[in-house]
Amino acid sequence: MIAYIILIVVVAVLLLGVGGTMLLRPRGMHGVRRGRAQELDLTGPLPKASDNTSPGGGTATAAPPSAADLLAPTTQYPEAPPRPGVEKPPPSAGRMVRLRARLARSQSGFGSALLALLSRDRLDDDTWDEIEEVLITADVGVTPARQMTSDLRTRVKVEGARTPDEVRAMLRSELLAQVETEASRSLRTQRHEGRPAVMLVVGVNGTGKTTTCGKLARALIGDGETVVLGAADTFRAAAADQLQTWGERVGAKVVRSDKEQADPASVAFDAVSVGIEQEADVVLIDTAGRLHTKNDLMDELGKVKRVIEKRTAVDEVLLVLDATTGQNGLRQARVFAEVVDVTGIVLTKLDGTAKGGIVIAVQRELGVPVKLVGLGEGPDDLAPFDPAAFVDAILGS
Ligand code: GDP
Repeated sequence: MIAYIILIVVVAVLLLGVGGTMLLRPRGMHGVRRGRAQELDLTGPLPKASDNTSPGGGTATAAPPSAADLLAPTTQYPEAPPRPGVEKPPPSAGRMVRLRARLARSQSGFGSALLALLSRDRLDDDTWDEIEEVLITADVGVTPARQMTSDLRTRVKVEGARTPDEVRAMLRSELLAQVETEASRSLRTQRHEGRPAVMLVVGVNGTGKTTTCGKLARALIGDGETVVLGAADTFRAAAADQLQTWGERVGAKVVRSDKEQADPASVAFDAVSVGIEQEADVVLIDTAGRLHTKNDLMDELGKVKRVIEKRTAVDEVLLVLDATTGQNGLRQARVFAEVVDVTGIVLTKLDGTAKGGIVIAVQRELGVPVKLVGLGEGPDDLAPFDPAAFVDAILGS
């Protein structure tokens, strides 16, 4: 009986002890602290002073409120409003090799058709005609297709390539010779003379200009550069919002106008001014690609360029071309090239066409290298163009 009474007393004392410890922690503060913890979680660990856990892991008596606690809102939000997270994009190096499987899927038809034809026992005139046709169908262009066919014919005669490996090696070197150019494919992305590098992104609407600006800003930031984006496509209302979203995700400043149909040249000028003031590495300007008449386009892009040049030089004019539009896209590209000095081509949507021959056609037609390729709608689906990776993807090797 005495033991029973002692047991009841011990249990009662223990229960009071635990409850007492819990009661020592003021409820209000517990609530605020939880709210702050949710907020602070996004930026870093809680400060030590507000930690409720003793070094030994046991529950300590309530610490006096820190200055941070006192300044914290007393209302407890069940869910702290999320802070827009800034992503850390991956660097651009080696991307085309990583995205090769996607390219190989879209281009394998063209490569395997050529390999099959070249591996026939008898390479007669009809077969050579078929080879030329495959090349033309892949958007290589009539003249380059004829030249490639004739080159291959000579090589077969001279070298007598017959085994599958020999045929593949011969086709690979012929395609590489057509894709490679002497002009450099590198982009000027370094500050110079104390000014940011300035890139103007031009092209017909819908080709992927805004998306390319966003992807390129991400890639540059991934490579450790600081970027300012200029939303000078003031014609399409959604373009500035689209660019803003891209910028916010990676921490690139976006310069835009509040007014609808604002003057693109003035937005471009402001963006470059911000880039200079903030000592950015690169300023990327998205433009509108209306193609009413060549004169309209010349007036608009010419003015944007002239106005930027009041502050600093334009280092790159990147022409965005949708690979799925084939010869029609090429005609549009020609008009742009007549209006501005294009320094590089960005070939988008190469993942959505089997006509990769457009790389050869556009370089030949405009005399400007393909510098970047778009291989999907994902944020990191833009890659510096790598001829060897491209040819290997076509040949499925
Ligand atoms: P803009 O009018 O020239 O600025 O074109 P947008 O940047 O708005 O792009 C038009 C559409 O093309 C969008 O749906 C993009 O997601 C899509 N797009 C852009 N680049 C690529 C690409 O490389 N591959 C694919 N599949 N879609 C792309």
